Amino acid sequence: MKTYDAIVIGAGPGGYPCAIRLAQLKQKVLCIEKENVGGVCLNWGCIPSKALISAAHLYEKSQAGAAMGIKVSGVELDANKMQDWKEGIVKKLTGGVGSLLKGNGADVVNGTATVVGPKRVDVTRADGSVEQFEATKAIVIATGSTTIEIPTFKFDGDTIIGAKEAVSLRRVPKRLMVIGGGVIGLELGMVYQAFGAELIVVEALPELLTGVDPDCTKIVERKILKRGGTIHKNAKALGYEKQKDGSVGVKIQADGKEQTIVVDTVLVAVGMRPSSKGLGLEKVGVTVDQRGFVPTDKFCRTNVPSIYAIGDVSGPPLLAHKATKEGEIAAEVIAGHKAEKDWVAIPGAIFTDPEIATVGLTEAEAKAKGLEVSIGKFPFSVLGKAMAMNETEGFVKIVADKKTKQVLGVHIVGPEASTMISEASLSLEMAAFLEDLSLTIHPHPTLGESLMEAAAHAMGAAIHIANR
Ligand SMILES: Cc1cc2nc3c(=O)[nH]c(=O)nc-3n(C[C@H](O)[C@H](O)[C@H](O)COP(=O)(O)OP(=O)(O)OC[C@H]3O[C@@H](n4cnc5c(N)ncnc54)[C@H](O)[C@@H]3O)c2cc1C
Repeated sequence: MKTYDAIVIGAGPGGYPCAIRLAQLKQKVLCIEKENVGGVCLNWGCIPSKALISAAHLYEKSQAGAAMGIKVSGVELDANKMQDWKEGIVKKLTGGVGSLLKGNGADVVNGTATVVGPKRVDVTRADGSVEQFEATKAIVIATGSTTIEIPTFKFDGDTIIGAKEAVSLRRVPKRLMVIGGGVIGLELGMVYQAFGAELIVVEALPELLTGVDPDCTKIVERKILKRGGTIHKNAKALGYEKQKDGSVGVKIQADGKEQTIVVDTVLVAVGMRPSSKGLGLEKVGVTVDQRGFVPTDKFCRTNVPSIYAIGDVSGPPLLAHKATKEGEIAAEVIAGHKAEKDWVAIPGAIFTDPEIATVGLTEAEAKAKGLEVSIGKFPFSVLGKAMAMNETEGFVKIVADKKTKQVLGVHIVGPEASTMISEASLSLEMAAFLEDLSLTIHPHPTLGESLMEAAAHAMGAAIHIANR
């Protein structure tokens, strides 16, 4: 039996940084992965979806240049070439992760891991052989999550698909139904909508992107409708029937009425489920909650002292940067350093068109906490840089404590929202006040000026818009 200081199960954005940091801290570490290193994020999540999104933007922008005096004709998408390009990126990045693990001195084994003791792991290889490993200090569960399948919409890999297939389509469906108006459904739905698909969104809840500031969601919704899409809220997809021509008639129930909508492809994006089953966790006494998440303390430890859990499997938000941060923290704790989950807020970026990015409390959340708030809002429609980019939809909204003026939350919808949110995250981590943001000189002309102006607006001191 081979012995390591620590064994990490899973090589996604939680597991691989955890293994790298452990190796950097001079720990003998093994990382076990049953599929490809990089996990969901690199292989069929974050990176592939963002590659398609940027292709969709280019496609759309290339046709929208007329107002700027640029006439383009005959813009065509070669979906095969786009997929080849995307796969090239995935290969480069996953290859990079493999090299980083090796370069830092972490061992990698390909196989399926099962926890067989508080410090023991069995790995089943592709050929069926089983190898045994022992950890002197810790085992880290970083097994991530998998797509939820609805029994009435079983994936067939072609017509009824999940996100994994949706990022690899080598065709643009003529009519695409997305079941689930969450982040993944809207991001991918809008990609194919930009390429010409008729998009139909079916969401069971009263709003799309539940939990996001509704003012932000409204802007994205408007774009979906403007491009000819349809949104059914409070609607349930009941089932489907295959038609002779290969299309599917999907029965939905909305506002108490049933109707059938004929589409070519159905993307089921109702959420992700933690991968905690079949790992042997229950047998070694690790608590798994009702939803399948593995609860941890602020040191990423489960109830079994030698077993840690990080990333999607340890609970929401199911985001890559949350997984990575936890991976680093777990590694440092295992190596005997002082570290814990002590962040103020985790930012979220939604790569719809336009993008939404948020950090901290929404206006509604702050009010629900009994806080009196000041709101500052600055629209991109009056910002020089946004006009120069010909991307003027959206705004920056800042929520601050009315009495102390401390920034509680920032919500951005518009161009480069995902990039701009990092400054807002720093503001929250540094416990910034509105003055800190508004007194910081932001270069002109840039999209970032909107943060400075929104902060000033919350204090009644914006220069480029009227202060209410
Ligand atoms: C379409 C899509 C788009 C997304 N876009 C974004 C985005 O833009 N930004 C963002 O922050 N997040 C995004 N996410 C979420 C992000 O992918 C996850 O939060 C992130 O991958 C979680 O990392 P993880 O390390 O916890 O798990 P995972 O990435 O799921 O990795 C877990 C790894 O463990 C392996 N594994 C599981 N069980 C075993 C076992 N028994 N033995 C060995 N190996 C095992 C799996 O094969 C997998 O490689 C997206 C997700 C999807 C599906």
